Amino acid sequence: MDENKKIMPRNVLEEMVDLRVDELMAKSGICCCMHCRADVVTYALNHLPPKYTISRGGEIFTRFHINQVQFQADVTAAILTAIEKVGTRAHHDRVEKKD
Ligand SMILES: [Zn+2]
Repeated sequence: MDENKKIMPRNVLEEMVDLRVDELMAKSGICCCMHCRADVVTYALNHLPPKYTISRGGEIFTRFHINQVQFQADVTAAILTAIEKVGTRAHHDRVEKKD
């Protein structure tokens, strides 16, 4: 079996959040460092019900709910809530200090 064509379950939310987070963070004006971005992505994913689908070789081919307006709105709302939470108590300073 071709390893590159491995069929795997995959949470489509991960891709959705990843696609939208940079734009929404930039618009909100909060710190966009990798720590804050990771905090926002983690918070958003933890507050959205996972939507698993089958992917082959990393490529998701079941996109039925990705294009639904309500689904997009839920993802955007979760990211905005995450930005609000992370923006008011950014962890980046604590994480970057290593002495
Ligand atoms: Zn930051």
